[in-house]
Amino acid sequence: MLARLRTRIIEPSEIPGHVAKWEVLFDTGCPCGLYTFYYAGCGHLHGTRKHCCGGKVLDTMIVFCHTPPPSTNVRAVKIRGSCRGCNA
Ligand SMILES: [Zn+2]
Ligand SMILES: [Zn+2]
Repeated sequence: MLARLRTRIIEPSEIPGHVAKWEVLFDTGCPCGLYTFYYAGCGHLHGTRKHCCGGKVLDTMIVFCHTPPPSTNVRAVKIRGSCRGCNA
């Protein structure tokens, strides 16, 4: 199960502009969903990022095509460092 993929370590600031790179196609048929990122150092949760494909717009806001949105753990990248609790 836990195949050791080559994991890239990135800075937290690199997340926003690059989520599209790690998007997955969910059962819903599009990549809209929540993408969770983990720390490389301690393995704890770094945070969750919303990602919308742009296929659905409500008023002028891009929204999830499906609610509730599906979620996935991004394993291709980890966030540099450890969480605040582990760093203290
Ligand atoms: Zn979508
Ligand atoms: Zn931690």
